[in-house]
Amino acid sequence: MLNYIGGAWKRSRASEYLDVRNPATAETMVRVPLTPRDEVDAAVQAAHAAFADWRQTPPTERIQYLFKLKRLLDEHFDEIALLTTQECGKTLAESQGELRRGIENVEVATGIPSLMMGYNVEDIAHGIDEHMLRQPVGVVAAITPFNFPGMIPLWFLPYAIACGNCFILKPSEKVPVTMSRVFDLIDQLGLPPGVVNLVNGAKETVDALLDHPTVRAISFVGSSPVAKYVYSRATANGKRAQCSGGAKNPVIVLPDADMEMATRIIADSSFGCAGQRCLATSVTITVGEAGSAFKEQIANAAATRKVGYGLDPQIEMGPVITAESKQRIESLIGKGVSEGARVLVDGRNASIPGYERGNFIRPTVLDNVDPRSEIAGIEIFGPVLSLMHVQTIDEAIDVVNAASYGNMACLFTSSGAAARKFRYEVQAGNIGINIGVAAPMVFFPFSGWKDSFFGDMHAQGRDAVEFYTEKKVVVERWPREWSRKF
Ligand code: NAD
Repeated sequence: MLNYIGGAWKRSRASEYLDVRNPATAETMVRVPLTPRDEVDAAVQAAHAAFADWRQTPPTERIQYLFKLKRLLDEHFDEIALLTTQECGKTLAESQGELRRGIENVEVATGIPSLMMGYNVEDIAHGIDEHMLRQPVGVVAAITPFNFPGMIPLWFLPYAIACGNCFILKPSEKVPVTMSRVFDLIDQLGLPPGVVNLVNGAKETVDALLDHPTVRAISFVGSSPVAKYVYSRATANGKRAQCSGGAKNPVIVLPDADMEMATRIIADSSFGCAGQRCLATSVTITVGEAGSAFKEQIANAAATRKVGYGLDPQIEMGPVITAESKQRIESLIGKGVSEGARVLVDGRNASIPGYERGNFIRPTVLDNVDPRSEIAGIEIFGPVLSLMHVQTIDEAIDVVNAASYGNMACLFTSSGAAARKFRYEVQAGNIGINIGVAAPMVFFPFSGWKDSFFGDMHAQGRDAVEFYTEKKVVVERWPREWSRKF
């Protein structure tokens, strides 16, 4: 993999490279460099050099590049989605879905001339007017995770450059191929060199961005320990930071829910993308009589889900990202059992004919998980659903609110009153009512709470414009004649 610095593809002089393997076949696809500090510096310098002209380019001209990018992404849609499935393992339909969401961010960012308007008031005192203007922040960087190689970088890039910033992406070293192809398309836009840059790598590359004095803002998406670390280090270095972390998303099922619909939606949420979504349902809390019906139906949905290579259109669930990840997930299932959970459906030791070297785990359901057990609080990030059973909605909400994460919480019910109580009381940032993956559309903020987010302004929508602009307030007097007398 090459880096893209100052409008050109550059081979890294990195001393270390990592293999990127197709998680279904274990074939090595490419090798990715761990870009060292001096090359990160070159990317920052290129972005900095481009900034002076780019910020003066009218927003109406800046967004023309985004219209072009949208057209190119649409034209190469299937080809990019295919790369995502090959490097990340999800099904082709899932890869297409995430790329569509990514493109929607490009579309919304074309509204920047309206979205970044300031406001003003005349005559705040006699003959004095006050204006709030938005200006770009400068050089900004984003560090992204493996599970959405196409979508998550596009949560940031379009808004950053539309607002007049120059941008550096550090994609996940586990899935660098999708963005490399997107940057091939970006290379065709005719953007001034340095406006958009890509550096591959892992911790050392990230640290170089966090420490660089010219980088003014950091966007991060990944696991909570790293999110917290990136937030602390970036802000200690005086940068603005928005860091989205991990999750352990609970769903409550009430007895008055449409059980068939709830089961289908929750199975898709838990096992879609092999459970490797920050909005995957990982805990279902059934209330009262909902328990037995839901348990039976979800066990059936888990046991019958078709697992295999995501390029096969019959397949509903692909592998997990790496062999280490598979091992970790299987050992966490074992830990759940040792803590007293009952394995209702066991997805360990899966072997898919023709893909014996792939990182496959079949859907797993753990029953009677104790809310105080360790397994109840850990983000497993695999196709594992834990079931808990309580007697009232209040008990269920208490379990939800005791958790350390707050990315998403959902309720299945046919009661408006229960739905209102739930959305009012629950401590999470993305709420679903009869929805399994409560992913905000791109004109809404992606609103994690608690240990799922560190910062103030989230990704997407108006928050993106807030994050990528500095506010400047101008108080202005133009008297007819200059005088010391007011
Ligand atoms: P990760 O934290 O391992 O890596 C994320 C990024 O951080 C990568 O680019 C990686 O190179 C870099 N990184 C890793 N360790 C680092 C370190 N010690 N210092 C500096 N940089 C480091 O996450 P992942 O495994 O790629 O992604 C899965 C995680 O992301 C899950 O926890 C998931 O919940 C979370 N996620 C959250 C959201 C959200 O919106 N909240 C969205 C997607 C994924």
